[in-house]
Amino acid sequence: MAGRCHVILIGPQGSGKGTQATRIAAPLGLVHVATGDLFRQLMTRDDPLAREVRSYYDRGELVPDDVTLRVLLERLDELERELPSYRGALLDGYPRNRAQAEALDRVLRDRNDTIAAVVHLAVPRAVLIERLSGRLICPQCGATYHRTFAPPRVEGQCDQCGAPLVQRSDDTPEAIARRLDTYEQHTAPLLEYYRERGLVIDIDGNRPIDEVTRTIVSALEPVLADPSRCRSS
Ligand code: AMP
Repeated sequence: MAGRCHVILIGPQGSGKGTQATRIAAPLGLVHVATGDLFRQLMTRDDPLAREVRSYYDRGELVPDDVTLRVLLERLDELERELPSYRGALLDGYPRNRAQAEALDRVLRDRNDTIAAVVHLAVPRAVLIERLSGRLICPQCGATYHRTFAPPRVEGQCDQCGAPLVQRSDDTPEAIARRLDTYEQHTAPLLEYYRERGLVIDIDGNRPIDEVTRTIVSALEPVLADPSRCRSS
């Protein structure tokens, strides 16, 4: 009988989902669960599943729904075991299409969990391409940087843990274009699916990081405190 209260972050690649999730999760009592991060972790192994995931990931294509759902559920089950007092997950990168949204509804119903809100981060495509092509990540601790907009203190080196920074293997121009097209075609339509249920909070993501963080937190606080939206509050 879980009764968790989850929040979904929806926005195109480069809209700042990961950056914002890292900042807002803990203050809101949520745990950041990013399927992309789960896959990047999984791909550090060398087994058939890791190789299968990599074949989709590197091309910027979606990993098959059954594999993705399995990886997500494993993480949610792990949280139940390791963090019995957590309020809910801040889902980043899931769901990404209609089948995943319906699967999520089913598994949440089985677990007696709810979706408290869907935060939609909107950013124009030209800005996204600029952000993604300069993005650098730390393979060790997951911190993200941008060559021009948010450079590390020492070039090529993570401020947090000192590891050498890398470009993500799917941040190439071809993969970026494919990922943004997939978002428009399969993920953006989910906003209607959730809008009909009154769950969507629209946020202008084309503003300074701190301002976006403040807007999201102020919008989510009352929702998470509302017992009709969030039973576990
Ligand atoms: P992200 O870090 O969210 O940009 O995800 C990076 C890559 O991981 C995507 O391009 C997909 O290959 C894979 N991925 C992440 N989340 C999902 C998902 N919900 N469904 C299918 N593939 C996913």
